[in-house]
Amino acid sequence: MARDLARGRIAGVATWAAGITLMALGAASAQAQVTGSIFDPPAQQQSAATGRAMHPMMTPQAIAAAEANFDSCIAGLYPLAQAKGISQNTYRRLTSGLTPDMKIMDFLDSQPEFSKPIGDYVNMLVSDYRVRKGKEILAQYKTIFDAAEKKYGVDRYAVAAIWGIESSYGSPQGMGTRSVLRSTATLSCVGRRQDYFRDEFIATLQILDKGDVPADHLTGSWAGAFGPTQFMPTSFQRFAVDFDGDGKRNVVDSIPDIIASTANNLKLDGWEFGKTWGYEVVLPKNFDYRYVDRSRNHTLGQWASLGITRPGGKAFPRPNETAFLLLPQGANGPAFLMLPNFSAILKYNPADAYALAIGHLSDRLRGGGDFVQSWPKEPALTRSERLEMQQRLIQRGYDIGTVDGILGTKTRVAVQDFQVRTGLLPDGFPSVAVLQKLRN
Ligand code: CA
Repeated sequence: MARDLARGRIAGVATWAAGITLMALGAASAQAQVTGSIFDPPAQQQSAATGRAMHPMMTPQAIAAAEANFDSCIAGLYPLAQAKGISQNTYRRLTSGLTPDMKIMDFLDSQPEFSKPIGDYVNMLVSDYRVRKGKEILAQYKTIFDAAEKKYGVDRYAVAAIWGIESSYGSPQGMGTRSVLRSTATLSCVGRRQDYFRDEFIATLQILDKGDVPADHLTGSWAGAFGPTQFMPTSFQRFAVDFDGDGKRNVVDSIPDIIASTANNLKLDGWEFGKTWGYEVVLPKNFDYRYVDRSRNHTLGQWASLGITRPGGKAFPRPNETAFLLLPQGANGPAFLMLPNFSAILKYNPADAYALAIGHLSDRLRGGGDFVQSWPKEPALTRSERLEMQQRLIQRGYDIGTVDGILGTKTRVAVQDFQVRTGLLPDGFPSVAVLQKLRN
């Protein structure tokens, strides 16, 4: 989805995985997205010294004032709805009696101190339950998957994997129970992301006005992601389709609509049918780790000529496809060559851990096995260590953008350069060893 902002659903996961942030695990982009997912980035505006949120819209005084002003704020948003064809009467009917859900502010600025290593996320998300249940779902709804795959040209296993990762195939806990209308209304009028959420609020009104999803079924994460594949309201508007022919795009209750809408989403995000997302690969001894750079795309044939192989010596079926080399946990962990479909999944949610989990679960659903290489046991950097790493890189003259604890592309490029200069293996991975070297 060109979900420029909004993606990553995993609403339910947010509850049981509270206290973690995934952005530290290698997000492909620094785009701000908020969906109530564990893959959301942490708040951008904060004091590097204390790690506390400092945004002026998030102070207790500002939040109290916004809460007191909620009714008139909502009334003032009518022109935005009107521009989308919502009548005054409909607006009044849908918004009358709305109150803000102030609990959401806690989620909006939560700043988890610790994060898990990416391998822990992949292992947690690609659980035996999700593999087993996913195979059942693929068999149970085979005719629907057949039809959707034919129409949209998107691998059924990828669609099923998104369904599984986002909500454990639609478990009530996975989907979230907050009113999407109330959540998006709250976030449109209170807190630091009001502009972003106003589009979501208006899209929610459009869904209710059209009756695509019954109002009492339109519940989701605190940020408004809903249904088993966790569409944000604006993503729903772009990607949802009516596949059972009842005239409604009901991605909450209709299995055909859920499957086809998710497939359509991946298709419009660039999914290439008949191809996979990537391959686990083994690097040769004495490999030049400067090739670990997501901006360096080479054909699989070229990568093979550098001595890169698949475990077990399997061939690359389509050697002319281009891929980049990704080492999600550095040189001590598994390596992957990532194809364009990996990037399509990243548009759904721009976190490597997410896209890798989707890709791996899809392979497992197809009958594949676990990764051959094991994940290193090294803990991920804590938030304060990530901030310290960024500050120390800046002190050494690197441009890493804002000191925000988010180790994006710029930080990784800087780490790699620092590794080259100091004789470390230049895998670009922000490890404890790199931080220790930076302290010297
Ligand atoms: Ca329908």
